[in-house]
Formats: sequence, structure tokens, C-alpha cells
Amino acid sequence: MADDVTAKSDTSIEKVSRRIEESREELIALTQELIRIPTVNPPGDAYRPCAELVGERLRKQGFSIEYLRAEGALGDSDRYPRTNVVARIEGEGPGETVHFNSHIDVVEAGKGWTFDPFEGTVADGRVYGRGACDMKGGLAASIIAVEALLREGIPFRGAIEISGTVDEESGGYAGVAWLAERGYFSKPRVDHVIIPEPLNVDRVCLGHRGVWWAEVETLGRIAHGSMPFLGVSAIRNMGLFLDLIERELYPELDQRRTQMPVEPEGARNSTLNFNSLHGGQAEGFDGLPSACVADSCRLVLDRRFLIEEPLEQVRGEIEGLLQRLRAEVPDFEYRLRELWSVLPTMTDEDAPVVKALDEEIRRVLGKEPQHIASPGTYDQKHVARIGHLHDCVAYGPGVLDLAHQPDEWVGIDDMVASAKIMAAATLRLTGTLRD
Ligand SMILES: [Zn+2]
Repeated sequence: MADDVTAKSDTSIEKVSRRIEESREELIALTQELIRIPTVNPPGDAYRPCAELVGERLRKQGFSIEYLRAEGALGDSDRYPRTNVVARIEGEGPGETVHFNSHIDVVEAGKGWTFDPFEGTVADGRVYGRGACDMKGGLAASIIAVEALLREGIPFRGAIEISGTVDEESGGYAGVAWLAERGYFSKPRVDHVIIPEPLNVDRVCLGHRGVWWAEVETLGRIAHGSMPFLGVSAIRNMGLFLDLIERELYPELDQRRTQMPVEPEGARNSTLNFNSLHGGQAEGFDGLPSACVADSCRLVLDRRFLIEEPLEQVRGEIEGLLQRLRAEVPDFEYRLRELWSVLPTMTDEDAPVVKALDEEIRRVLGKEPQHIASPGTYDQKHVARIGHLHDCVAYGPGVLDLAHQPDEWVGIDDMVASAKIMAAATLRLTGTLRD
């Protein structure tokens, strides 16, 4: 009996892999079509046509399609509607649901391109363009993977979903978060989520570190710049704060290492970046400044924290330093404003989605899969925190380092290989191969 199952699995997987191989040109063309729709965020251009490209294509394959505009969500307006697409197809018989989620937005092209960023030029086995790796190549690969299953007529259990969602690059609040709040990323509707972000074709990304963004403002008292002793300099006070961070907090953060397999390795430590710093008179004026003691100095902090660090501690460390300065330094006043926070998340290494992808990476690529975690965040946070669905990872083609860079590209062989891996993993996760 067991032998029969294996034989049947092998034939289905072989058939689908062959079909994906034959769809190579179609996969390239679909990636190009997606790149040619400039879904630049901000402001969130052309979401609707991009959602329709995905939706109308899948409708022809028998999917039922929903276009969901996140009305009233952050960033949504009639000029820039936040339109998401969710496609679903039911299999034959009871089984589990696999959902492929890709964000359709891309960051601005920026300077330094040798190719047209919105053309999708093919050269040297690669497709070039903004969003090629992050993540229209991954979206195209997941579509081709599922289409191959359907076109080969392989009966599958459960259901398959593909979504194209907005605003991942700006937090995902009108995209995955909005859908998750409405049950689109929860059981019983969905069991397994694969996000084809560009994390390299042989790696499975289990989760990401946390984020805490805050603005610290030191407050001074304005006075004539020739008599600074009559005022209080907010800039000097900020200097004291920065000095304390340099002397005490940085050495402390450098000691903290996570058990999360974050790549690149430098990001296995807690990190803190100063995003911006401004004190005194407003910038952008070309004339001579006037002589004033700065009464305000603002610093934006970007703290990335580890799964081992509670958010309260992260917040408390910064606040603690500020309170100490207030107690010790005459006229030290500050305001602390929290801008954004995301808790770290990490899927279990032996969760079903991880095991299924591992197995297919071994089979298709003939190498041992690597488990990693991301230094930044992506939409997995919403699936885990809002949808309470923990069988979720990022897996897709494309080289992480190329994301957001000029001359971004995705390798065609990688897209094909990842599509084979996604298709076979789908058969496993829906329960089809256990028949
Ligand atoms: Zn991305």
C-alpha cells in the first residue's frame, strides 16, 4: 500500500514539474506583465489594474475572485484605492487550504538603472525591473505553479488560494492586515500560508525581528545666540542623550544575540539606527540663519529587537536613559513619542509548511534547505498576530540583497525551480499526496 502511494505521488509531482518547465516562457511573460504595471508605493499607483491582471487570469482557470478595496484604511482614497485580490479554488474532497500571498506594491525606482525599471527586460537568464524580485517574480511563480496543477488535471484535496495584496512596503495595513481582520488569514478558511518574498530559492524564512520606532524630542528654551547662557539648548541636551546611548546602550545591545537564524548574521544582534536628527531652525532656507538657541531637537529611532526581548524592555531602556538625564541634568526636558511597533514572529521549524517546503527543496534542488529569519519585517506579522495562523513562512525566488536596488532582477531558473517546489508542497499540504 505504501509503495502505491509513493508511486502515485511521484507521477503527479513529475507531471507538474514537467508542465512548469514547459511554462518557462509563460512565466517570463507574466513576470513582465506584472512589472509593466507600475504599482509604486507611495502613493500606491495602479493597484486596481494589477489586481485585475491577477484576478482575471485566475478566473479563467476556474478560481472565484474577490476584489477587496480597503475602504477607509490608512492610505486609501478614490485617487489611490487600496484594491486587493483574493482568488480561491476548491479541490475535490476534504483537505487543507494553502494560501500564496504576494504583495503587488513596489518601492520607487530611484536612480542608477541601466534598464527601464518598468519594462521587464530579459537578459542573461534574468528578468530586470522594479519589483522583479520583490516580489512580482514570486507572485508569477506561485501562479504558474498552481496553474500547472490545474492544467495537468491533478485532483487535489482542500483548496488553494492566491492573493495579491497592497501596501506591504508601507506596513501592510490596507493589505494583509485589513484582510486578516476580516478572517482571510485564519482557520478554518486557511491552514497554510506561503509568502513568496525574495529570500533565495533554497531558504525558508521562518519569521522576522521586531520593530520599535520612536521620536525623542529634547526641549530647550529659546534665547539670543550671542548669550546662550540665557537659554537652554535642546541640541546640547540631545547630545547628552546620544552620548549615553553610545557609552551604555550600544555596548549592551552588542552583547545580545538571538537564537533566531537571522540573515545576514550581523542582524542576530539587537540593533539601533538613528533614522533622522534635526535641531533648531528649519532646514531649506538659503539665507543667513538668525542667532537663536535651539528650543527643540528631534531624533527618530529605529530599534530592531529580538524574539528574546520583550517590547516593554525595549521601550523601557530608552525611557530609562531619558529619565536619568532628567533627574541628573538641570533643565533637561524631553518628549517621547512612539511611532510604530511590530512584535517579532517565528514559525516552528517543524511546522507542516516548513517540512513540506524542506522536502521539496531537497528533491528539486538536491541541497539541504536553510532556515532563516529576516532582519526586517514583512506581512507574516499580520498573519500571525491578527489571523492567529502560525503555519506561515516566506519562501520564494529572488535574491534578498537586490530588493529595492537599481537594476533589480529575478533569475528565471530560480523562478522555475521555486514554482516546482511550491506546486509539490501544495500537494503535500492540502493532504492530496496522502491518498
Ligand atoms: Zn517584499
